[in-house]
Amino acid sequence: MASPNVSHSVNEGCAAAGASRWDEVRAELALGDGALNIGHACADHHVAAGRGGRVAVRALGAHGEPRLLTYAQLAEASGRFAAALTARGIGPGDTVALLLRRTPELFVAALGALKAGAVVCPLFPTFGPGPIRSRLDLAQARLLVAAEDLYARKVAAQRGALPRLEQAVLVGEDGAAARPAPGCLDYAALLTGAAPAPAVATRPLDPALLHFTSGTTGTPKGVVHPHRAVLAHLLTGREMFGLGPDDVFWCTADPGWITGTAYGIIAPLACGATVLADEADINPRRWYGILADEQVTVWYTTPTAIRAMMRFGAALARSYRGTSLRVAASVGEPLNAEAVLWGRRALGVPFLDTWWQTEIGSVAIANRPDDSIRPGSMGRPLPGIQAAVVRRDGNHVEPIDTPDTVGELAIRPGWPSMLSGYLGEGVLLGVGLHDGWYLTGDLVRRDADGCFWFVGRADDMIKCGGVQIGPFEVEGLLMNHPALAEVGVVGKPDLLLREVPVAFASLNPGFQAGDALRAEVLSYARQELGSALAPRELHFLAELPKTVAGKILRRVLKAKAVEEPEESEPLPAVGVLGPEA
Ligand code: AMP
Repeated sequence: MASPNVSHSVNEGCAAAGASRWDEVRAELALGDGALNIGHACADHHVAAGRGGRVAVRALGAHGEPRLLTYAQLAEASGRFAAALTARGIGPGDTVALLLRRTPELFVAALGALKAGAVVCPLFPTFGPGPIRSRLDLAQARLLVAAEDLYARKVAAQRGALPRLEQAVLVGEDGAAARPAPGCLDYAALLTGAAPAPAVATRPLDPALLHFTSGTTGTPKGVVHPHRAVLAHLLTGREMFGLGPDDVFWCTADPGWITGTAYGIIAPLACGATVLADEADINPRRWYGILADEQVTVWYTTPTAIRAMMRFGAALARSYRGTSLRVAASVGEPLNAEAVLWGRRALGVPFLDTWWQTEIGSVAIANRPDDSIRPGSMGRPLPGIQAAVVRRDGNHVEPIDTPDTVGELAIRPGWPSMLSGYLGEGVLLGVGLHDGWYLTGDLVRRDADGCFWFVGRADDMIKCGGVQIGPFEVEGLLMNHPALAEVGVVGKPDLLLREVPVAFASLNPGFQAGDALRAEVLSYARQELGSALAPRELHFLAELPKTVAGKILRRVLKAKAVEEPEESEPLPAVGVLGPEA
Protein backbone atom coordinates (compact mmCIF):
# COMPACT_ATOMS: atom_id res chain seq x y z
CA MET A 1 0.00 0.00 0.00
CA ALA A 2 1.29 3.44 -0.86
CA SER A 3 1.73 5.92 1.98
CA PRO A 4 -1.50 7.77 2.61
CA ASN A 5 -1.65 11.46 1.85
CA VAL A 6 -1.03 12.82 5.31
CA SER A 7 -2.78 16.07 4.61
CA HIS A 8 -6.01 14.05 4.88
CA SER A 9 -6.98 12.74 8.27
CA VAL A 10 -8.67 9.73 6.68
CA ASN A 11 -7.36 7.35 4.03
CA GLU A 12 -10.48 7.69 1.89
CA GLY A 13 -8.92 6.42 -1.35
CA CYS A 14 -7.88 3.17 0.28
CA ALA A 15 -11.37 2.73 1.70
CA ALA A 16 -12.98 2.86 -1.74
CA ALA A 17 -10.45 0.35 -3.08
CA GLY A 18 -11.15 -1.94 -0.12
CA ALA A 19 -14.91 -1.84 -0.63
CA SER A 20 -14.68 -3.04 -4.22
CA ARG A 21 -12.38 -5.90 -3.19
CA TRP A 22 -14.88 -6.91 -0.50
CA ASP A 23 -17.51 -7.23 -3.23
CA GLU A 24 -15.17 -9.44 -5.26
CA VAL A 25 -14.46 -11.84 -2.41
CA ARG A 26 -18.12 -11.88 -1.51
CA ALA A 27 -18.84 -13.24 -4.97
CA GLU A 28 -15.98 -15.74 -4.52
CA LEU A 29 -17.37 -17.13 -1.24
CA ALA A 30 -21.14 -16.74 -1.76
CA LEU A 31 -23.43 -19.70 -1.21
CA GLY A 32 -25.81 -18.51 -3.91
CA ASP A 33 -28.60 -15.93 -3.82
CA GLY A 34 -26.52 -13.60 -1.63
CA ALA A 35 -26.14 -16.10 1.22
CA LEU A 36 -22.82 -16.28 3.08
CA ASN A 37 -21.81 -18.83 5.70
CA ILE A 38 -18.39 -18.92 7.38
CA GLY A 39 -18.53 -22.72 7.76
CA HIS A 40 -19.11 -23.14 4.04
CA ALA A 41 -16.42 -20.59 3.12
CA CYS A 42 -13.81 -22.39 5.26
CA ALA A 43 -14.42 -25.95 4.05
CA ASP A 44 -17.07 -26.89 1.43
CA HIS A 45 -16.08 -23.95 -0.77
CA HIS A 46 -12.61 -25.51 -1.29
CA VAL A 47 -14.03 -28.97 -1.95
CA ALA A 48 -16.31 -27.51 -4.64
CA ALA A 49 -13.26 -25.86 -6.20
CA GLY A 50 -11.40 -29.19 -6.40
CA ARG A 51 -9.07 -28.59 -3.44
CA GLY A 52 -10.61 -31.23 -1.15
CA GLY A 53 -7.44 -33.33 -0.99
CA ARG A 54 -5.31 -30.56 0.52
CA VAL A 55 -4.51 -30.59 4.23
CA ALA A 56 -6.70 -28.11 6.09
CA VAL A 57 -5.63 -28.81 9.69
CA ARG A 58 -2.47 -30.36 11.06
CA ALA A 59 -2.91 -30.71 14.82
CA LEU A 60 0.05 -31.41 17.08
CA GLY A 61 -1.10 -33.05 20.29
CA ALA A 62 0.68 -32.69 23.60
CA HIS A 63 1.97 -36.19 22.82
CA GLY A 64 1.54 -38.68 19.96
CA GLU A 65 1.34 -38.37 16.19
CA PRO A 66 -0.06 -35.27 14.48
CA ARG A 67 -3.73 -35.62 13.47
CA LEU A 68 -4.65 -34.36 10.01
CA LEU A 69 -7.86 -33.24 8.34
CA THR A 70 -8.06 -32.61 4.60
CA TYR A 71 -10.52 -29.99 3.38
CA ALA A 72 -12.78 -32.84 2.20
CA GLN A 73 -12.68 -34.48 5.67
CA LEU A 74 -13.28 -31.13 7.37
CA ALA A 75 -16.27 -30.42 5.09
CA GLU A 76 -17.73 -33.85 5.70
CA ALA A 77 -17.22 -33.97 9.48
CA SER A 78 -18.51 -30.41 9.98
CA GLY A 79 -21.51 -31.30 7.77
CA ARG A 80 -22.22 -34.29 10.00
CA PHE A 81 -21.93 -32.16 13.11
CA ALA A 82 -24.26 -29.54 11.60
CA ALA A 83 -26.81 -32.27 10.84
CA ALA A 84 -26.52 -33.64 14.40
CA LEU A 85 -27.09 -30.18 15.86
CA THR A 86 -30.12 -29.59 13.63
CA ALA A 87 -31.56 -32.97 14.64
CA ARG A 88 -31.20 -31.91 18.28
CA GLY A 89 -33.12 -28.70 17.71
CA ILE A 90 -30.14 -26.31 17.51
CA GLY A 91 -30.24 -23.80 14.67
CA PRO A 92 -30.24 -20.10 13.73
CA GLY A 93 -30.47 -17.85 16.78
CA ASP A 94 -29.01 -20.46 19.18
CA THR A 95 -25.60 -20.18 20.78
CA VAL A 96 -23.21 -23.12 20.80
CA ALA A 97 -20.32 -22.69 23.26
CA LEU A 98 -16.99 -24.47 22.78
CA LEU A 99 -14.63 -25.47 25.58
CA LEU A 100 -11.98 -27.18 23.49
CA ARG A 101 -8.22 -27.03 23.09
CA ARG A 102 -6.59 -26.53 19.69
CA THR A 103 -7.56 -30.00 18.42
CA PRO A 104 -9.22 -31.13 15.15
CA GLU A 105 -12.57 -31.29 17.02
CA LEU A 106 -12.36 -27.53 17.66
CA PHE A 107 -12.35 -26.92 13.89
CA VAL A 108 -15.10 -29.44 13.15
CA ALA A 109 -17.37 -28.23 15.95
CA ALA A 110 -16.89 -24.53 15.13
CA LEU A 111 -17.53 -24.95 11.40
CA GLY A 112 -20.34 -27.45 12.03
CA ALA A 113 -22.18 -25.07 14.36
CA LEU A 114 -21.75 -22.22 11.86
CA LYS A 115 -23.06 -24.44 9.06
CA ALA A 116 -26.11 -25.21 11.22
CA GLY A 117 -26.68 -21.44 11.42
CA ALA A 118 -25.88 -21.25 15.16
CA VAL A 119 -23.69 -18.61 16.85
CA VAL A 120 -20.33 -19.98 18.00
CA CYS A 121 -18.94 -18.85 21.35
CA PRO A 122 -15.43 -20.22 22.01
CA LEU A 123 -14.34 -20.15 25.67
CA PHE A 124 -10.83 -20.12 27.12
CA PRO A 125 -9.92 -23.67 28.20
CA THR A 126 -7.66 -22.12 30.86
CA PHE A 127 -10.53 -20.33 32.63
CA GLY A 128 -11.74 -21.69 35.96
CA PRO A 129 -15.32 -22.78 36.74
CA GLY A 130 -16.51 -19.28 37.81
CA PRO A 131 -15.65 -17.34 34.62
CA ILE A 132 -16.84 -20.26 32.47
CA ARG A 133 -20.21 -20.35 34.23
CA SER A 134 -20.69 -16.58 33.96
CA ARG A 135 -19.87 -16.61 30.24
CA LEU A 136 -22.13 -19.60 29.50
CA ASP A 137 -24.83 -17.73 31.35
CA LEU A 138 -24.25 -14.38 29.62
CA ALA A 139 -24.09 -16.13 26.23
CA GLN A 140 -27.35 -18.00 27.00
CA ALA A 141 -25.69 -21.03 25.41
CA ARG A 142 -28.09 -23.91 24.67
CA LEU A 143 -25.39 -26.43 23.84
CA LEU A 144 -21.78 -26.84 24.95
CA VAL A 145 -19.10 -28.89 23.17
CA ALA A 146 -16.32 -29.63 25.66
CA ALA A 147 -13.24 -31.79 26.09
CA GLU A 148 -14.35 -34.41 28.61
CA ASP A 149 -11.65 -33.55 31.18
CA LEU A 150 -12.44 -29.81 30.99
CA TYR A 151 -16.15 -30.54 31.40
CA ALA A 152 -15.55 -32.77 34.41
CA ARG A 153 -13.32 -30.22 36.16
CA LYS A 154 -15.02 -26.97 35.22
CA VAL A 155 -18.67 -27.46 34.27
CA ALA A 156 -20.17 -30.69 35.64
CA ALA A 157 -20.63 -29.43 39.22
CA GLN A 158 -22.43 -26.28 38.09
CA ARG A 159 -24.74 -27.74 35.48
CA GLY A 160 -27.68 -27.17 37.83
CA ALA A 161 -26.90 -23.45 37.96
CA LEU A 162 -27.08 -23.22 34.16
CA PRO A 163 -30.75 -23.91 33.31
CA ARG A 164 -30.40 -22.59 29.75
CA LEU A 165 -27.61 -25.04 28.95
CA GLU A 166 -29.80 -27.90 27.73
CA GLN A 167 -27.18 -30.13 26.13
CA ALA A 168 -23.50 -30.95 26.50
CA VAL A 169 -21.46 -32.89 23.96
CA LEU A 170 -18.21 -34.41 25.24
CA VAL A 171 -15.08 -35.03 23.19
CA GLY A 172 -12.83 -37.86 24.37
CA GLU A 173 -9.04 -37.70 24.30
CA ASP A 174 -7.67 -37.56 20.72
CA GLY A 175 -11.25 -37.60 19.38
CA ALA A 176 -12.02 -41.05 20.85
CA ALA A 177 -15.39 -41.84 22.44
CA ALA A 178 -15.94 -39.92 25.69
CA ARG A 179 -16.66 -41.76 28.94
CA PRO A 180 -20.42 -41.67 29.66
CA ALA A 181 -21.37 -38.72 31.90
CA PRO A 182 -24.83 -37.76 33.23
CA GLY A 183 -26.71 -35.40 30.92
CA CYS A 184 -24.02 -35.56 28.21
CA LEU A 185 -23.79 -36.84 24.65
CA ASP A 186 -20.75 -38.35 22.99
CA TYR A 187 -19.29 -36.29 20.14
CA ALA A 188 -17.87 -39.29 18.24
CA ALA A 189 -21.23 -41.13 18.34
CA LEU A 190 -23.11 -37.99 17.21
CA LEU A 191 -20.81 -37.66 14.23
CA THR A 192 -21.07 -41.27 13.06
CA GLY A 193 -24.86 -41.23 13.49
CA ALA A 194 -25.45 -38.27 11.14
CA ALA A 195 -25.29 -37.81 7.37
CA PRO A 196 -23.49 -34.61 6.24
CA ALA A 197 -25.79 -31.61 5.78
CA PRO A 198 -24.99 -28.57 3.62
CA ALA A 199 -24.55 -25.17 5.25
CA VAL A 200 -27.67 -23.18 6.11
CA ALA A 201 -28.02 -20.22 3.73
CA THR A 202 -27.31 -17.57 6.36
CA ARG A 203 -27.38 -13.91 5.31
CA PRO A 204 -24.17 -11.84 5.53
CA LEU A 205 -25.43 -9.88 8.56
CA ASP A 206 -26.73 -12.90 10.49
CA PRO A 207 -24.84 -13.36 13.79
CA ALA A 208 -22.05 -15.93 13.65
CA LEU A 209 -19.49 -15.40 16.45
CA LEU A 210 -19.63 -14.36 20.09
CA HIS A 211 -16.42 -13.51 21.99
CA PHE A 212 -15.89 -11.98 25.36
CA THR A 213 -13.22 -9.27 25.31
CA SER A 214 -10.24 -10.01 27.48
CA GLY A 215 -10.90 -6.99 29.66
CA THR A 216 -7.40 -5.74 30.56
CA THR A 217 -8.99 -2.70 32.15
CA GLY A 218 -12.69 -3.36 32.66
CA THR A 219 -15.40 -6.03 32.78
CA PRO A 220 -15.46 -8.42 29.79
CA LYS A 221 -18.16 -7.71 27.24
CA GLY A 222 -19.83 -10.12 24.80
CA VAL A 223 -19.09 -8.99 21.24
CA VAL A 224 -21.07 -10.40 18.30
CA HIS A 225 -19.81 -10.61 14.70
CA PRO A 226 -21.80 -11.51 11.57
CA HIS A 227 -21.01 -14.09 8.85
CA ARG A 228 -19.87 -11.20 6.67
CA ALA A 229 -16.71 -10.97 8.81
CA VAL A 230 -15.23 -13.80 6.73
CA LEU A 231 -14.70 -11.30 3.87
CA ALA A 232 -12.28 -9.35 6.05
CA HIS A 233 -10.63 -12.56 7.29
CA LEU A 234 -10.04 -13.74 3.74
CA LEU A 235 -8.72 -10.38 2.56
CA THR A 236 -6.47 -9.71 5.54
CA GLY A 237 -5.23 -13.31 5.26
CA ARG A 238 -4.13 -12.50 1.74
CA GLU A 239 -3.07 -8.88 2.14
CA MET A 240 -1.36 -9.01 5.51
CA PHE A 241 0.02 -12.56 5.47
CA GLY A 242 0.01 -13.35 1.72
CA LEU A 243 -1.82 -16.61 2.51
CA GLY A 244 -2.54 -19.15 -0.20
CA PRO A 245 -2.88 -22.93 -0.56
CA ASP A 246 0.89 -23.56 -0.26
CA ASP A 247 1.20 -21.95 3.16
CA VAL A 248 1.49 -23.51 6.58
CA PHE A 249 0.01 -20.92 8.95
CA TRP A 250 0.53 -21.12 12.69
CA CYS A 251 -1.41 -18.93 15.11
CA THR A 252 -0.56 -19.46 18.77
CA ALA A 253 -3.63 -17.64 20.16
CA ASP A 254 -5.90 -19.55 22.54
CA PRO A 255 -9.44 -20.48 21.55
CA GLY A 256 -11.58 -17.98 23.45
CA TRP A 257 -9.61 -14.93 22.33
CA ILE A 258 -10.93 -13.63 19.00
CA THR A 259 -7.47 -13.99 17.45
CA GLY A 260 -7.78 -17.74 18.03
CA THR A 261 -10.99 -17.81 15.96
CA ALA A 262 -10.36 -15.15 13.31
CA TYR A 263 -6.77 -16.22 12.57
CA GLY A 264 -6.52 -19.56 14.37
CA ILE A 265 -9.44 -20.93 12.31
CA ILE A 266 -11.22 -18.71 9.79
CA ALA A 267 -8.66 -16.62 7.85
CA PRO A 268 -6.21 -19.42 6.97
CA LEU A 269 -9.01 -21.85 6.07
CA ALA A 270 -10.84 -19.25 3.96
CA CYS A 271 -7.50 -18.77 2.13
CA GLY A 272 -7.12 -22.53 1.60
CA ALA A 273 -3.87 -22.77 3.62
CA THR A 274 -2.88 -25.51 6.06
CA VAL A 275 -3.48 -24.48 9.68
CA LEU A 276 -0.99 -25.77 12.18
CA ALA A 277 -2.61 -26.18 15.61
CA ASP A 278 -0.44 -26.87 18.63
CA GLU A 279 -2.16 -28.00 21.80
CA ALA A 280 0.71 -27.11 24.14
CA ASP A 281 1.21 -23.79 25.92
CA ILE A 282 4.05 -21.29 25.42
CA ASN A 283 7.30 -23.21 25.23
CA PRO A 284 10.15 -21.49 23.38
CA ARG A 285 12.28 -24.63 23.13
CA ARG A 286 9.46 -26.60 21.50
CA TRP A 287 8.51 -23.65 19.29
CA TYR A 288 11.83 -23.36 17.45
CA GLY A 289 11.47 -27.09 16.66
CA ILE A 290 7.90 -26.66 15.38
CA LEU A 291 8.79 -23.69 13.18
CA ALA A 292 11.57 -25.66 11.51
CA ASP A 293 10.12 -29.21 11.45
CA GLU A 294 6.61 -28.22 10.33
CA GLN A 295 7.99 -25.81 7.70
CA VAL A 296 5.82 -23.00 8.96
CA THR A 297 5.64 -20.19 6.39
CA VAL A 298 3.59 -17.65 8.38
CA TRP A 299 3.60 -17.30 12.16
CA TYR A 300 1.16 -15.12 14.12
CA THR A 301 1.87 -14.77 17.80
CA THR A 302 1.90 -12.33 20.71
CA PRO A 303 4.41 -10.02 22.41
CA THR A 304 4.23 -12.27 25.52
CA ALA A 305 5.41 -15.24 23.47
CA ILE A 306 8.08 -13.18 21.74
CA ARG A 307 9.36 -11.86 25.07
CA ALA A 308 9.45 -15.44 26.39
CA MET A 309 11.61 -16.44 23.43
CA MET A 310 13.88 -13.42 23.87
CA ARG A 311 14.22 -14.27 27.53
CA PHE A 312 15.49 -17.71 26.67
CA GLY A 313 18.36 -15.99 24.94
CA ALA A 314 20.56 -16.12 21.90
CA ALA A 315 21.97 -19.64 22.36
CA LEU A 316 18.57 -21.27 21.83
CA ALA A 317 17.82 -18.93 18.91
CA ARG A 318 21.13 -19.91 17.27
CA SER A 319 20.03 -23.56 17.31
CA TYR A 320 17.10 -22.65 15.01
CA ARG A 321 17.64 -24.07 11.53
CA GLY A 322 14.32 -23.22 9.85
CA THR A 323 14.29 -21.72 6.37
CA SER A 324 10.60 -21.70 5.46
CA LEU A 325 9.36 -18.75 7.56
CA ARG A 326 8.26 -15.89 5.30
CA VAL A 327 6.23 -13.72 7.69
CA ALA A 328 6.19 -13.45 11.50
CA ALA A 329 3.66 -11.11 13.07
CA SER A 330 2.42 -10.07 16.49
CA VAL A 331 -0.84 -8.81 18.00
CA GLY A 332 -2.47 -7.99 21.29
CA GLU A 333 -0.10 -5.56 22.95
CA PRO A 334 2.48 -3.03 21.86
CA LEU A 335 5.59 -4.58 20.34
CA ASN A 336 8.75 -2.64 21.06
CA ALA A 337 11.32 -1.99 18.32
CA GLU A 338 13.88 -4.29 19.94
CA ALA A 339 11.47 -7.26 19.66
CA VAL A 340 10.79 -6.47 15.99
CA LEU A 341 14.50 -6.52 15.19
CA TRP A 342 15.21 -9.52 17.41
CA GLY A 343 12.91 -11.49 15.08
CA ARG A 344 15.13 -10.65 12.15
CA ARG A 345 18.26 -11.79 14.01
CA ALA A 346 16.77 -14.97 15.49
CA LEU A 347 14.30 -16.13 12.82
CA GLY A 348 15.46 -14.32 9.70
CA VAL A 349 12.31 -12.16 9.49
CA PRO A 350 11.26 -9.18 11.63
CA PHE A 351 8.14 -9.47 13.79
CA LEU A 352 5.51 -7.32 12.11
CA ASP A 353 3.22 -5.58 14.56
CA THR A 354 -0.51 -5.67 13.78
CA TRP A 355 -3.26 -3.78 15.59
CA TRP A 356 -6.94 -4.61 16.01
CA GLN A 357 -9.37 -5.33 18.81
CA THR A 358 -12.26 -7.73 19.41
CA GLU A 359 -14.81 -5.19 18.19
CA ILE A 360 -12.86 -4.62 14.94
CA GLY A 361 -12.81 -8.37 14.17
CA SER A 362 -9.75 -8.49 11.87
CA VAL A 363 -6.35 -6.82 11.41
CA ALA A 364 -6.95 -3.12 10.76
CA ILE A 365 -3.55 -1.43 11.08
CA ALA A 366 -0.29 -3.22 10.41
CA ASN A 367 3.27 -3.25 9.22
CA ARG A 368 2.75 -5.22 6.03
CA PRO A 369 5.50 -7.44 4.64
CA ASP A 370 5.51 -5.54 1.33
CA ASP A 371 5.57 -2.10 2.95
CA SER A 372 8.48 -0.26 4.55
CA ILE A 373 8.19 -1.30 8.19
CA ARG A 374 8.70 1.09 11.07
CA PRO A 375 9.90 -0.90 14.12
CA GLY A 376 7.97 0.15 17.23
CA SER A 377 4.97 1.44 15.26
CA MET A 378 1.66 -0.34 14.56
CA GLY A 379 2.06 0.44 10.84
CA ARG A 380 -0.54 1.80 8.46
CA PRO A 381 -4.27 1.09 7.93
CA LEU A 382 -5.01 -1.85 5.66
CA PRO A 383 -6.94 -1.17 2.44
CA GLY A 384 -10.57 -0.46 3.21
CA ILE A 385 -9.91 0.79 6.72
CA GLN A 386 -10.51 4.50 7.30
CA ALA A 387 -8.57 5.34 10.42
CA ALA A 388 -8.04 8.72 12.02
CA VAL A 389 -6.60 10.31 15.14
CA VAL A 390 -9.40 12.31 16.75
CA ARG A 391 -10.09 14.62 19.66
CA ARG A 392 -13.32 14.11 21.60
CA ASP A 393 -15.26 17.10 22.76
CA GLY A 394 -18.36 15.79 24.51
CA ASN A 395 -20.17 13.86 21.78
CA HIS A 396 -18.42 15.78 19.02
CA VAL A 397 -15.37 14.26 17.33
CA GLU A 398 -12.77 16.25 15.47
CA PRO A 399 -10.04 14.59 13.35
CA ILE A 400 -6.52 15.83 14.10
CA ASP A 401 -4.43 16.48 10.98
CA THR A 402 -1.18 17.60 12.59
CA PRO A 403 1.31 14.71 12.61
CA ASP A 404 2.59 13.37 15.93
CA THR A 405 -0.32 14.72 17.96
CA VAL A 406 -1.80 12.27 20.45
CA GLY A 407 -5.53 11.54 20.14
CA GLU A 408 -7.97 8.65 20.15
CA LEU A 409 -7.87 6.11 17.33
CA ALA A 410 -11.18 6.20 15.42
CA ILE A 411 -12.38 3.98 12.57
CA ARG A 412 -15.17 4.75 10.08
CA PRO A 413 -17.80 1.99 10.14
CA GLY A 414 -18.29 -0.14 7.05
CA TRP A 415 -15.54 -2.74 7.15
CA PRO A 416 -17.05 -6.26 6.97
CA SER A 417 -15.81 -7.60 10.32
CA MET A 418 -17.17 -4.72 12.37
CA LEU A 419 -19.07 -6.00 15.39
CA SER A 420 -22.84 -6.30 15.03
CA GLY A 421 -23.20 -5.20 18.65
CA TYR A 422 -22.73 -6.15 22.28
CA LEU A 423 -24.69 -8.90 23.95
CA GLY A 424 -26.80 -7.79 26.88
CA GLU A 425 -29.49 -9.91 28.58
CA GLY A 426 -29.78 -12.03 25.43
CA VAL A 427 -30.35 -9.10 23.08
CA LEU A 428 -27.98 -7.35 20.73
CA LEU A 429 -27.19 -3.84 21.94
CA GLY A 430 -26.13 -1.25 19.36
CA VAL A 431 -22.66 0.21 19.01
CA GLY A 432 -22.26 3.86 19.97
CA LEU A 433 -20.86 6.02 17.18
CA HIS A 434 -19.63 9.57 17.56
CA ASP A 435 -20.07 11.86 14.55
CA GLY A 436 -20.06 8.71 12.42
CA TRP A 437 -16.85 7.30 13.95
CA TYR A 438 -16.31 4.13 15.97
CA LEU A 439 -14.00 5.16 18.83
CA THR A 440 -11.52 2.49 19.90
CA GLY A 441 -10.52 3.76 23.35
CA ASP A 442 -6.84 3.54 22.29
CA LEU A 443 -4.63 6.62 22.27
CA VAL A 444 -2.24 6.88 19.34
CA ARG A 445 -0.28 9.35 17.28
CA ARG A 446 0.31 9.23 13.53
CA ASP A 447 3.66 10.32 12.12
CA ALA A 448 4.23 12.33 8.95
CA ASP A 449 4.57 9.07 6.94
CA GLY A 450 1.15 7.83 8.00
CA CYS A 451 2.37 5.23 10.54
CA PHE A 452 0.37 4.91 13.76
CA TRP A 453 2.16 4.67 17.13
CA PHE A 454 0.44 3.23 20.19
CA VAL A 455 0.43 5.51 23.24
CA GLY A 456 -1.88 3.62 25.63
CA ARG A 457 -5.49 2.76 26.43
CA ALA A 458 -7.33 6.01 27.14
CA ASP A 459 -8.15 4.64 30.60
CA ASP A 460 -4.50 3.62 31.25
CA MET A 461 -3.05 7.12 30.78
CA ILE A 462 -1.19 8.41 33.83
CA LYS A 463 -2.10 11.95 34.76
CA CYS A 464 0.96 13.27 36.57
CA GLY A 465 0.85 16.97 37.47
CA GLY A 466 0.04 18.66 34.17
CA VAL A 467 1.56 15.84 32.11
CA GLN A 468 -0.24 12.89 30.47
CA ILE A 469 2.12 9.92 30.49
CA GLY A 470 1.56 7.03 28.07
CA PRO A 471 2.66 3.87 29.91
CA PHE A 472 3.93 2.22 26.73
CA GLU A 473 6.52 4.93 26.11
CA VAL A 474 7.96 4.37 29.58
CA GLU A 475 7.75 0.58 29.30
CA GLY A 476 9.38 0.62 25.85
CA LEU A 477 12.33 2.58 27.16
CA LEU A 478 12.76 0.46 30.29
CA MET A 479 12.71 -2.70 28.14
CA ASN A 480 16.02 -1.52 26.64
CA HIS A 481 17.69 -2.16 30.01
CA PRO A 482 19.36 -5.58 29.75
CA ALA A 483 18.12 -6.75 33.17
CA LEU A 484 14.40 -6.33 32.46
CA ALA A 485 12.37 -9.08 30.74
CA GLU A 486 8.88 -7.56 31.06
CA VAL A 487 7.69 -4.21 32.34
CA GLY A 488 4.29 -2.79 33.27
CA VAL A 489 3.92 0.88 34.21
CA VAL A 490 0.83 2.24 35.96
CA GLY A 491 -0.27 5.38 37.81
CA LYS A 492 -0.22 5.41 41.61
CA PRO A 493 -2.41 8.00 43.38
CA ASP A 494 -0.40 10.94 44.69
CA LEU A 495 -1.69 13.80 46.83
CA LEU A 496 0.39 16.43 45.13
CA LEU A 497 0.58 15.30 41.51
CA ARG A 498 -2.69 13.27 41.28
CA GLU A 499 -0.75 10.25 39.97
CA VAL A 500 2.90 9.22 39.62
CA PRO A 501 4.25 6.49 37.31
CA VAL A 502 5.45 3.33 39.05
CA ALA A 503 6.97 0.32 37.31
CA PHE A 504 6.72 -3.42 37.86
CA ALA A 505 9.28 -5.66 36.17
CA SER A 506 10.39 -9.26 35.86
CA LEU A 507 14.05 -10.00 35.26
CA ASN A 508 16.09 -11.79 32.63
CA PRO A 509 18.07 -14.84 33.76
CA GLY A 510 21.36 -13.94 35.44
CA PHE A 511 20.11 -10.74 37.15
CA GLN A 512 19.44 -10.47 40.86
CA ALA A 513 16.52 -8.40 42.17
CA GLY A 514 17.53 -6.01 44.93
CA ASP A 515 18.24 -2.42 45.92
CA ALA A 516 21.35 -2.06 43.78
CA LEU A 517 19.58 -3.09 40.57
CA ARG A 518 16.50 -1.02 41.48
CA ALA A 519 18.64 2.11 41.92
CA GLU A 520 20.50 1.44 38.69
CA VAL A 521 17.31 0.99 36.62
CA LEU A 522 15.58 4.02 38.13
CA SER A 523 18.61 6.20 37.45
CA TYR A 524 18.77 4.86 33.88
CA ALA A 525 15.07 5.76 33.49
CA ARG A 526 15.62 9.30 34.80
CA GLN A 527 18.56 9.79 32.48
CA GLU A 528 16.72 8.52 29.39
CA LEU A 529 13.17 9.72 30.05
CA GLY A 530 13.72 12.81 32.20
CA SER A 531 12.35 13.25 35.68
CA ALA A 532 8.77 14.04 34.55
CA LEU A 533 8.25 10.67 32.87
CA ALA A 534 10.59 8.39 34.84
CA PRO A 535 8.91 5.95 37.25
CA ARG A 536 9.19 6.95 40.89
CA GLU A 537 9.20 3.34 42.09
CA LEU A 538 10.27 -0.01 40.69
CA HIS A 539 8.97 -3.31 42.06
CA PHE A 540 10.39 -6.65 40.99
CA LEU A 541 7.97 -9.53 40.37
CA ALA A 542 8.74 -13.11 39.34
CA GLU A 543 6.04 -12.79 36.65
CA LEU A 544 3.72 -9.92 35.68
CA PRO A 545 -0.02 -10.65 36.07
CA LYS A 546 -1.62 -11.36 32.68
CA THR A 547 -4.98 -12.09 31.08
CA VAL A 548 -5.42 -15.53 29.57
CA ALA A 549 -4.63 -13.92 26.21
CA GLY A 550 -1.26 -12.92 27.71
CA LYS A 551 -1.90 -9.20 28.08
CA ILE A 552 -0.45 -7.41 31.09
CA LEU A 553 -3.28 -6.82 33.59
CA ARG A 554 -2.80 -3.18 34.45
CA ARG A 555 -5.72 -3.06 36.85
CA VAL A 556 -4.00 -5.71 39.01
CA LEU A 557 -0.77 -3.71 38.87
CA LYS A 558 -2.71 -0.57 39.82
CA ALA A 559 -4.08 -2.34 42.88
CA LYS A 560 -0.61 -3.63 43.71
CA ALA A 561 0.86 -0.12 43.33
CA VAL A 562 -1.38 1.05 46.15
CA GLU A 563 -0.60 -1.99 48.35
CA GLU A 564 3.16 -2.13 47.76
CA PRO A 565 5.45 -0.55 50.34
CA GLU A 566 8.01 1.84 48.82
CA GLU A 567 10.62 -0.90 48.51
CA SER A 568 9.43 -4.40 47.71
CA GLU A 569 11.03 -7.58 48.98
CA PRO A 570 13.68 -8.92 46.61
CA LEU A 571 12.37 -11.94 44.69
CA PRO A 572 14.30 -14.69 42.93
CA ALA A 573 15.82 -13.33 39.72
CA VAL A 574 14.58 -16.12 37.45
CA GLY A 575 10.92 -16.48 36.47
CA VAL A 576 8.95 -19.64 35.80
CA LEU A 577 10.55 -20.19 32.43
CA GLY A 578 13.88 -21.02 34.04
CA PRO A 579 17.37 -20.11 32.92
CA GLU A 580 18.82 -20.67 29.50
CA ALA A 581 20.27 -24.13 29.12
P1 AMP B 1 -8.83 -7.39 22.76
O1 AMP B 1 -10.07 -6.89 22.14
O2 AMP B 1 -9.04 -8.04 24.08
O3 AMP B 1 -8.01 -8.24 21.84
O4 AMP B 1 -7.94 -6.10 23.11
C1 AMP B 1 -7.73 -5.10 22.14
C2 AMP B 1 -6.78 -4.08 22.68
O5 AMP B 1 -5.46 -4.64 22.77
C3 AMP B 1 -6.61 -2.89 21.77
O6 AMP B 1 -7.67 -1.96 21.92
C4 AMP B 1 -5.27 -2.34 22.23
O7 AMP B 1 -5.41 -1.61 23.43
C5 AMP B 1 -4.50 -3.62 22.50
N1 AMP B 1 -3.72 -3.99 21.30
C6 AMP B 1 -3.99 -4.92 20.38
N2 AMP B 1 -3.03 -4.96 19.44
C7 AMP B 1 -2.13 -4.02 19.77
C8 AMP B 1 -0.91 -3.55 19.18
N3 AMP B 1 -0.42 -4.09 18.08
N4 AMP B 1 -0.26 -2.54 19.80
C9 AMP B 1 -0.76 -2.00 20.94
N5 AMP B 1 -1.90 -2.39 21.53
C10 AMP B 1 -2.57 -3.38 20.96
